[in-house]
Amino acid sequence: MSQTDEVLERCEHLLARHDPATTKPREFLGAQFDLGLAWVHFPEGAGGLGLSPRLQKTINERLAAAHAPSAAARNPIGYGMGAPTILTHGSDAQRQRYLRPLFTGEEIWCQLFSEPGAGSDVASLSTTAVRDGDEWIVNGQKVWTTLAHLSRWGMLVARTNPDLPKHKGMTYFVIDMQGPGVDVRPLRQMTGEAEFNEVFMSDVRIPDAERLGDVGEGWHVALTTLMNERVSIGGAIPPREGGLIREALRVWRAGQGWTDVQRDELTKLWIEAEVLRLTNIRASQLRTVGTPGPEGSVSKIMAAEHNKAVSNFVVDLLGAEGMLYTTFEMVRPEATMAWDCPQKGFLRMRANSIEGGTTEVMKNILGERMLGLPGDVRVDKALPWKDVPRS
Ligand SMILES: Cc1cc2nc3c(=O)[nH]c(=O)nc-3n(C[C@H](O)[C@H](O)[C@H](O)COP(=O)(O)OP(=O)(O)OC[C@H]3O[C@@H](n4cnc5c(N)ncnc54)[C@H](O)[C@@H]3O)c2cc1C
Repeated sequence: MSQTDEVLERCEHLLARHDPATTKPREFLGAQFDLGLAWVHFPEGAGGLGLSPRLQKTINERLAAAHAPSAAARNPIGYGMGAPTILTHGSDAQRQRYLRPLFTGEEIWCQLFSEPGAGSDVASLSTTAVRDGDEWIVNGQKVWTTLAHLSRWGMLVARTNPDLPKHKGMTYFVIDMQGPGVDVRPLRQMTGEAEFNEVFMSDVRIPDAERLGDVGEGWHVALTTLMNERVSIGGAIPPREGGLIREALRVWRAGQGWTDVQRDELTKLWIEAEVLRLTNIRASQLRTVGTPGPEGSVSKIMAAEHNKAVSNFVVDLLGAEGMLYTTFEMVRPEATMAWDCPQKGFLRMRANSIEGGTTEVMKNILGERMLGLPGDVRVDKALPWKDVPRS
């Protein structure tokens, strides 16, 4: 039996015993995990079968056609970034503890990297973790922490040795977001919602057993998270004419009297959507097990600019209606990047070229790591972190 047939047979087995229409999402996703269909390239017992990652698309398409719940939608940061980081750098005990409830959505994850003084240059971060026996004591502030208000666990990078250069003195932890000393406060966006937060940590105690990777290896572990973040933000593979371009076509087909210029613009955007989709299919097929490479930055840039262009176009088509907005009532969403009307989509898409690394920084990565161009100016790279001036 081919590997494709094997995973499809498992999908049928899953659907026959757990009808998505009548099974609770957590139960369905738990059964999916136990059958190795969560991340098919992960090892057996960790939600996978040790098979080619290419097969995941086959599984996802079959389950989506049956209207099965999506782990990526329920726990986007945990699914797209937390799981590969735990798999790559976690111990067996950590894989056992975290992966299943992450996949079922019982435990939501967030990413505590950015700080008020460290965004694009996240390696300059100031949050400290000081060793105290079998624990670490953490103090500092993070910002833009998406879904922290729902999270059980956070991926935290903290400074453990200020005497070393910035990239060398950091360590990566899993922090209990509901533990003592963690204070999550909403940050309201221009959509009216507060999808992200600022997080204050005051004398938070993290057991050493919750460290991911070695002491001082935090940057190395963080790169796994960041590379996967780019893919998870820009690497979506909707069906043809799916995703945001579907909304443009819906508005187009519902109206009339469009100009040739508008038709040209729609055609250009449709082609762009298709090129992005095919690029992401190719990238997912080339991707081997482990950390994606800098090519994730290609999709990230393209998706950000494309989403902004399509949402601009839709609001233009709507004319005066494009200026109407549903409500600015402050809500705490359970999803990221969600929008329920084109006007909200227009506002939300502005963030696409900032979140997960700005377009300018993605261009630097591509210039340096793929095109071999001279590096950005980095005057503080070799200096001890404590000697670098900062505001
Ligand atoms: C919707 C949203 C959700 C987010 N969610 C999270 C999250 O869950 N967790 C988390 O940790 N962070 C999160 N972030 C933060 C995000 O990663 C940062 O905003 C981003 O990395 C940019 O950092 P900054 O905002 O500090 O901008 P800065 O780094 O201060 O950049 C300011 C400007 O300078 C430019 N710039 C900076 N350095 C360079 C350079 N070397 N070359 C050229 N241009 C440069 C940037 O492109 C930008 O235009 C989120 C952000 C948004 C908008």
